[in-house]
Amino acid sequence: MLETLHRIIQKVNASADLGEALDTIVYMLRESIQADVCSVYLTDFETHRHVLRATDGLNREAIGKAYLPMHRGLVGLVCERAEAINVEDAHLHRNYLATTETGETSYHGFLGAPILQQSKVLGALVVRNRKAGKIDDEVVTFVLTLAAQLAGAIAHAGVTGELAKIQGRGGHGNQLLKGRSSSSGIAMGTAFVTSQPADLESVPDRLTHDRELEQEQLREAIQAVQNELRRLKQKLSSDLPEEDRALFDAWLMILSEDALTGRAIQLIAEEGLWAPAALRTTVEEHARVFDAMEDIYLRERASDIRDLGRRVLSHLQQESPSIIEYPERTILVGEEVSAVQLAEVPRSKLAGVVSATGSSSSHVAILSRALGIPSVMGVDSLPTMRLDGRELILDGYSGRIYISPQPMVREEYQRLAEEDRALTAELDNLRGLPVETTDGVCIPLYLNTGLLTDMSSFGIEESDGVGLYRTEFPFMVRDRFPGEETQVKNYRKVLQAFSPRPVVLRTLDIGGDKPLPYFPVKESNPFLGWRGVRISLDHPEIFLTQVRAMLRASADLDNLHIMLPMVTSVAEVDQLLALIKRAHRELLEEGCAITKPKIGVMIEVPAAVYNSVAIAKRVDFISVGTNDLTQYLLAVDRNNPRVAELYSDLHPAVLFAITQIIEGASQYNCPVGICGELAGNPLATPLLIGMGVDSLSMSAGSLLRVKRVISTISQSHAIRLLQSTLQMNEADEITAFMSAALENLGLEKLLKPGQLAPKT
Ligand code: PEP
Ligand code: MG
Repeated sequence: MLETLHRIIQKVNASADLGEALDTIVYMLRESIQADVCSVYLTDFETHRHVLRATDGLNREAIGKAYLPMHRGLVGLVCERAEAINVEDAHLHRNYLATTETGETSYHGFLGAPILQQSKVLGALVVRNRKAGKIDDEVVTFVLTLAAQLAGAIAHAGVTGELAKIQGRGGHGNQLLKGRSSSSGIAMGTAFVTSQPADLESVPDRLTHDRELEQEQLREAIQAVQNELRRLKQKLSSDLPEEDRALFDAWLMILSEDALTGRAIQLIAEEGLWAPAALRTTVEEHARVFDAMEDIYLRERASDIRDLGRRVLSHLQQESPSIIEYPERTILVGEEVSAVQLAEVPRSKLAGVVSATGSSSSHVAILSRALGIPSVMGVDSLPTMRLDGRELILDGYSGRIYISPQPMVREEYQRLAEEDRALTAELDNLRGLPVETTDGVCIPLYLNTGLLTDMSSFGIEESDGVGLYRTEFPFMVRDRFPGEETQVKNYRKVLQAFSPRPVVLRTLDIGGDKPLPYFPVKESNPFLGWRGVRISLDHPEIFLTQVRAMLRASADLDNLHIMLPMVTSVAEVDQLLALIKRAHRELLEEGCAITKPKIGVMIEVPAAVYNSVAIAKRVDFISVGTNDLTQYLLAVDRNNPRVAELYSDLHPAVLFAITQIIEGASQYNCPVGICGELAGNPLATPLLIGMGVDSLSMSAGSLLRVKRVISTISQSHAIRLLQSTLQMNEADEITAFMSAALENLGLEKLLKPGQLAPKT
């Protein structure tokens, strides 16, 4: 069964469109379970009908015509209950409603499985048998599994407009997608799809202005792969038997003018596609033929074709001109947009970011906040291949994305964007004013940064220093570890820009979701693996070079603070402190008179929360990294869109942990700041003031919002709010309570304006 399931799924995924996917599923399912009929009904939420969309066994003339009103018939019952219904004789069931035009009245056995996506029922997969009788349990689970797979294909078609088209509703305008809001603001612009290197599936459809050039580049790339294959064949001639070497000839044939090359060249000439899209289409067409073969050996050839396609693509990508033309208002879209891809877009052209994976605490989201660029992460069923060049509206408040929006929606968003600008202008009045509660408590506001380009003059003027400089970004945009001199120059620029205010440089926090292309760490569970100071302790040479560079960069400025990420145990702190001491001593011996910096530890692992007293005893300051602390306390991957609903840094466990850290650190008068995203969330500001945090560090875009909250509230009021929230059990309850509290303070404008977005 598993083998059949894989085969069906593979074929469904390789289908060119929804119609083909539905046909494939009904034919292959009916055949594999030997049923008399197999059909798909999809719910049309506009006309309130469950419409027959594909069938093998019923009258095909009825496809698109036969329907059951919503909630009626056995199909209605399956959709309403969102569970499988297995009936011995449909005719005897009280919900039975016949659709005579389908010819189904002569069938008695009935099994219906809901097609569910993220708890929304999209329709039903139905199996019918002529004879009465319940269907075997094993078949039921098989059908249920397939129905779940089908949901992805249907949802995908829904957002590309294909579903609307087959439902006769045109399919133009206003397709809406939903993800996690990750950086607030509204962006209106043109999608630019970025693909992973040599990833055929993520190549977008794009038209070319120069068909001849595309053809030439494709031919050259194919030629390069053919040469590679010939060389490989030659190299392996003494190790491989003749019959295995024949494989190389087969591959060379696949790449010949008569097969892949000819068809791809034709697509460029006739349809004007750019070479990567012509290649992707051709490879898929050829691979699908093999996918459908019964013979396992022949089916395997599909993966050879895809592999050859990837090889050609990788040559094409090397050859394609490195100067990319970005649209004027680029909305960067991708399956997994990386920090590097984001950094590649000229700042003046970057309007927004949309990524299929990731969440609001992914690093690309953090970077987009630092740049003040609206972003939405974790967009399920993002049809990346079909978005390039299309008009998008991105609502960074609510996480909505509109593809080819209708004029009404566009106008509404223009109005919201205007409101946004008005709020920004209002907040501008706070620039330069002290950050003080109404009862006189001062809270320094620091900046989170990591790229020299995101250090705007606004951030430099408006903050009390840098509370978190993520040093890994300059490491990520290079092709090797930067040397000591390069690092000194980099750090000196930051230290100088903020001098005499403090600058906290965090030591390298790679691993987890921050891989370095030249230092691959392959692990099945990277967030619980080799990351942060664990790598530093195993590679003291990398750590020492970095610390030396930090110390040298601080000469005569004396505003350096060093911070250690991902600390779990006190022993780690002791070892790292010893290494820093050693680097300092060596520099003194080399004649560099450098003041000993303040050293702090990030608390982001639950174990460190319980060790906060012992840690506080050893260091000059503590900074709570709520992004990781939340993921580890709640056991929710901060980048996984499937569990994004469960990720909340306003969870009572997180708030309670912070109060414990502050209490523990107070035993040694060790100051505690917050540098995770919670610090920049106006909803959390009163709670953090109530806890008595010593400082907050955030993206530049949050500075004035948080300042506004602080200057509107007294610490005593904040303490009362905190006491109430510490009685609550759910993050949602706390969010609702704090939203109401901000409204009472007249700060509702700071709450997400996207809630006012047009209803769809
Ligand atoms: C954190 O974990 O809260 C933090 C600030 O570090 P990063 O987001 O870089 O992991
Ligand atoms: Mg962290």
